[in-house]
Amino acid sequence: MEDDDGLITEVPAHLRGQSAPPPELRREPAEQHLEPALEPALDAPPADHGRPTERTQVRAGTTHAGGVLRQPTGATVPAVWCPAGHFSPPDAPYCRCCGEPVPAQQPLRVPRPPLGALHLPEGQRVLLDRPAVLGRRPLPLPDGDPWPHLVELPADLTHLSRNHVAVELDGWHVLARDLGSSGGTALHAPGRPPIRLRPHDPHVLEPGQSLMLSGDFTVAFRAATT
Ligand SMILES: [Zn+2]
Repeated sequence: MEDDDGLITEVPAHLRGQSAPPPELRREPAEQHLEPALEPALDAPPADHGRPTERTQVRAGTTHAGGVLRQPTGATVPAVWCPAGHFSPPDAPYCRCCGEPVPAQQPLRVPRPPLGALHLPEGQRVLLDRPAVLGRRPLPLPDGDPWPHLVELPADLTHLSRNHVAVELDGWHVLARDLGSSGGTALHAPGRPPIRLRPHDPHVLEPGQSLMLSGDFTVAFRAATT
């Protein structure tokens, strides 16, 4: 399906499971704005390009879950899809969602799907459909766009900074960036010694890895699932 600008907005049902799209779809449109989302907003106001009027807050002390904002951010990525219709990076041999092999095909540019989720210690989940800023009193970053999830961590953990760490999205990559926090942020990967993040330097976060804030608050990153 295409909109007026000729952009692919979803995988047509008849194409799912095929190894290659028909000739008219074998192109990757140049970077440009996409209006419709693959998953239309359920309860969101008309799209305002990812800058809602209200803060998105995820308080670690409650069961409120992230991902309540469903407006498209305007970000697009080149993608291939599996027989079930999940999008993956063009070089992915297996679907990042269901693990099925991805048939050979030409990538198409699509609205970026959520890249996974951050999992907090008490079970809260922050969907990475947009960036996130975590801290005791998080605020959007001056250069931040689109509006991020503001993940408010417990105020009684005074060793956490107000703006402690940002989790940003760059194409298909998830990046963690310590915001000059006083307690620091470490990246933990299974089977490897922890890496202390240099303040303000982005670091790629892989599924299965976790961030340790000030030595005792863990935020795990898990890949997208079906
Ligand atoms: Zn899949």
